[in-house]
Amino acid sequence: MSLRGVIFDLDGTLVDSQLDFAAIRAATGCPDGLGLIEYAEGLVEDEAARVHRIIHEHEMAGARAASWIPGADDWLAALRRQGLPTGILTRNARVPTALTLSRLGIDVDVVLTREDCRPKPDPDGLLRIARQWNLPCEALVYVGDFRYDIEAARRAGMQAWFYDTGRHSHFGDDADRVFRDFLELMGE
Ligand SMILES: [Mg+2]
Repeated sequence: MSLRGVIFDLDGTLVDSQLDFAAIRAATGCPDGLGLIEYAEGLVEDEAARVHRIIHEHEMAGARAASWIPGADDWLAALRRQGLPTGILTRNARVPTALTLSRLGIDVDVVLTREDCRPKPDPDGLLRIARQWNLPCEALVYVGDFRYDIEAARRAGMQAWFYDTGRHSHFGDDADRVFRDFLELMGE
């Protein structure tokens, strides 16, 4: 089935927000192997609030620093010219996400943050977007740079495309397509 819509991860895929996840994990005390959101969910109220505050500060700093991943802007513009629906599904919160999008002028049809759906790798957000577009999941692509992205796409029954930055190429093993440069996708 041909491509009928594209959904993007935000950090590390569409934009480089220079988020230092290792620093956030260290500052919050988040153990290895556990996601920050999942870590916060398991904490008592005061501790969870402290962790969310730290995450928020980092996400806002990331939003202020964010720049386009080279070529991502061109491919997104090409998809929109073709009339394909486009979306963003991110584990970030709504306020820093909105700041990133407005600063960089990123225009997509739908944006879901962690306040809008269950966070990846849960496929909830992807399934919501497919329902909203009234399109079958297998005709949609989710593009991301992390294992949560591949897993969410798999569980939603969407095509999983992996943007390989060279940092953790093995995540691409489970992807339907691996690319290293958005320019590879132009003109298809
Ligand atoms: Mg990412």
